[in-house]
Amino acid sequence: MKYEISITKTANPKARPADESKLGFGRIFTDHMFMMDYATDKGWYNGRIVPFGPIAIHPASTVLHYGAEIFEGMKAYRAADGTIRMFRPLENVKRLNQSAERLCLPQLDEEGCLDILNTLVELEKDWVPHNDGTSLYIRPFLFGNDPHLGVHAVKEATFVVICSPVGAYYAEGINPVKIAIESQDVRAVRGGTGYAKCGGNYAASLRAGQRAEEQGYTQVLWLDGVERKYIEEVGAMNVMFKIGGKIVTPALSGSILPGITRKSCLELLKDWGYTVEERQISVDELFEAAANGSLEEAWGTGTAAVVSPIGQLFYNGNAYTLCGGKIGEVAQKLYDNLTGIQWGKIDDAHGWSYTVCNG
Ligand SMILES: *Cc1c(COP(=O)(O)O)cnc(C)c1O
Repeated sequence: MKYEISITKTANPKARPADESKLGFGRIFTDHMFMMDYATDKGWYNGRIVPFGPIAIHPASTVLHYGAEIFEGMKAYRAADGTIRMFRPLENVKRLNQSAERLCLPQLDEEGCLDILNTLVELEKDWVPHNDGTSLYIRPFLFGNDPHLGVHAVKEATFVVICSPVGAYYAEGINPVKIAIESQDVRAVRGGTGYAKCGGNYAASLRAGQRAEEQGYTQVLWLDGVERKYIEEVGAMNVMFKIGGKIVTPALSGSILPGITRKSCLELLKDWGYTVEERQISVDELFEAAANGSLEEAWGTGTAAVVSPIGQLFYNGNAYTLCGGKIGEVAQKLYDNLTGIQWGKIDDAHGWSYTVCNG
């Protein structure tokens, strides 16, 4: 089922960024955005593409007080054959609905949501940057928008999609990151919202992130919220280890975000004949493996960086260098293959690339 979408084009198109090497992440926005409203008695209504700009919001709106907000992060790529493509977009739409279910926000029709993304990206296709490694980041988000302060599942909601041309994540070649294992704060617990992509999870994670940054670490590696000994995930990335030749990654236990990059990496690794274990991994096991030399590689996976090798882990006052502080063979191969598929440079055997339009 497709939603009706009215289109109001901007009278003042902005100049495209002149220097694509200075795009950065999420600072520049395109000319238009998509918006659609929901009410329990009407369903979704008033789907519209309008000029990009501020949104008027009721001061008592649910999202401002109780944080009823979920989002997605995906990219459109200018592929080698000149088409504009997305990567497994239906997976993002399905995850948005899973997040919505957890926060009592309304569901979107899958086909309708995909059509919204297509329509917006096609309209903004000139904003998809051209340089190697650049892309158009797409940020769909959905929030509770009841105009009163009662605490209950919302009756009104708003769905918005904005787009931002983003630079190459690794402008100066892939650089392994330094990660601090967090032993004080926790991000999520089973039964909580860890598996949902919701703003609240990020709000709760900022303090640890800030502390890690002050000590020279890029991101935090979270431990489970109950025993504080099992590895969960990194900031906005899932995490994988190569231990004694096998690939080990934390199982999706309910407190971890089910990453689409994670899922894609596991499928590729199985194609390549690796033994892949989705299970609990304790910090003790990890540092034992580091000590006896069987911890061969570690990396994060997520849409923004695709694959982010981990060069150093910090825990309880000790720093452990991994893989000589360099990118490992498996992380490099995953990065080359996933980005190769995304930019249409190598065979897409799984049919993950989704063509939006000609560029
Ligand atoms: C989005 C996100 C990821 C990565 O998911 P992808 O679908 O691979 O981009 C991992 N962890 C968290 C907390 C996230 O929000």
